[in-house]
Amino acid sequence: MHAKTAHELHALLADKKLSSVELTAAVFDRIEKVEAKVKAYVTLTKEDALKQARAADERIKSNQNVTPLTGIPIAIKDNMCTRAVTTTCSSRILANYLPPYDATVVAKIKAAGAVMIGKTNLDEFAMGSSTENSGFHPTHNPWDTKTVPGGSSGGSAAAVAAGEAILSTGSDTGGSIRQPASFCGVVGLKPTYGRVSRYGLVAFASSLDQIGPIAKDVTDAAILMNVLAGHDPQDSTSVDRPVPDYRKALTADVKKLKIGVIKELLGAGIDQAVKAAVQKAIAKFEELGAQIIEVSLPTFEYAVATYYLIAPAEASSNLARYDGVKFGPRTKAAKDLVSMYYNTRQAGFGQEVKRRIMLGTYALSAGYYDAYYLKALKVRTLIKQDFEKAFSGCDVLLSPTAPTVAFKLGEKTADPLAMYLSDIATIPINLAGLPALSLPCGLDRGLPIGLQLIGQAFAEETILRAAFAYEQNTDWHKQKPPL
Ligand code: GLN
Repeated sequence: MHAKTAHELHALLADKKLSSVELTAAVFDRIEKVEAKVKAYVTLTKEDALKQARAADERIKSNQNVTPLTGIPIAIKDNMCTRAVTTTCSSRILANYLPPYDATVVAKIKAAGAVMIGKTNLDEFAMGSSTENSGFHPTHNPWDTKTVPGGSSGGSAAAVAAGEAILSTGSDTGGSIRQPASFCGVVGLKPTYGRVSRYGLVAFASSLDQIGPIAKDVTDAAILMNVLAGHDPQDSTSVDRPVPDYRKALTADVKKLKIGVIKELLGAGIDQAVKAAVQKAIAKFEELGAQIIEVSLPTFEYAVATYYLIAPAEASSNLARYDGVKFGPRTKAAKDLVSMYYNTRQAGFGQEVKRRIMLGTYALSAGYYDAYYLKALKVRTLIKQDFEKAFSGCDVLLSPTAPTVAFKLGEKTADPLAMYLSDIATIPINLAGLPALSLPCGLDRGLPIGLQLIGQAFAEETILRAAFAYEQNTDWHKQKPPL
């Protein structure tokens, strides 16, 4: 059961060949078997889950309000608020934080009748690319538990890959849905900025953060996207525009689709095996009737540097609230207000979070603002214009999702810059606010390789359609980790 997709399971549930209680119990059995090796979760909510499963079964029995998610076990990244269930962001400073409300995406998932299994591990406050920055424990890649699952949504991607959840949610500020999806051999979609509400998503970098689905195949990603997308009056950056039925977009027809291959992302710095798999995927698209064009985005080389000014600048401001007064357990060892702030934050934040706060505070400080932050904003505009130019001649852009397959635990923890560079292919997309999807396109020494498809703003349907066409004609998505 745990290995099936949501759409397969929905058919069994709807036909009453399976109950949600049975399915939920099967997923918890799977968790019992493999979680000690994977460590995808921060919190499991078994009792609540079984209660929700019973309610889902009632709903199915009375045939009321049954949606494709009714009765389906789902895991939520632990930076999305869940009412009365701890939401830690994998930070010690929020270890006991019980939100009084559900994030909009969580409320929508619950309303659809899905069953929440638990909260998944992440890099503290979503800052990282390996889930090793979690304040609690690292997560292990189900394909090889000596390697990282990617990050920051490493727990969410590993849970789906290992069958410890059928679906999960991720958040993506610079690659945090797509890069772990790539490393764990699953599908991850980062929607257009503004497509999904961020209300109740603990803010990292507000102009970049976006929530999206992580799933076993493209159909499941479309199904979850149908629930996540839409305007929310609680988030003024969410866009009021109709939500299409993403599932209807899955026609598998890519004839005459113009696919631009990003030259800069198939050159230096990209692993040979990754390049080879992506080249094969390009050939597959050509065989399916797509038109392949080479495109160049010359400002790409500045994207990582730009991101590491803008994201930490926003983070330094967003994280000011964890001060022992508004949020966070207050340290007792303080003689005045300033030392209380100091000691609380010193004890509550991990090293990477502190590094980001310092970088961001520096970039925003008087005298440096123009030289760093303002300049980064200008480069961000240039990157956006590069994308606009590229999209004047094509419908979709294509690249590897990450320059390598999953690396070993500990391999990059001592070198932040090497860690930051695992996002060279994903960061530019966040800076431009565009949608992009990662799906499996190969294996290198038993580890998954991800293919990234990038769309124009609000063209999620186009990338889902292209991804579905590729998936229908390959079987990488059917490969399972040898756990
Ligand atoms: N790895 C990137 C970072 O560390 C992106 C993280 C994310 O998308 N949340 O900031």
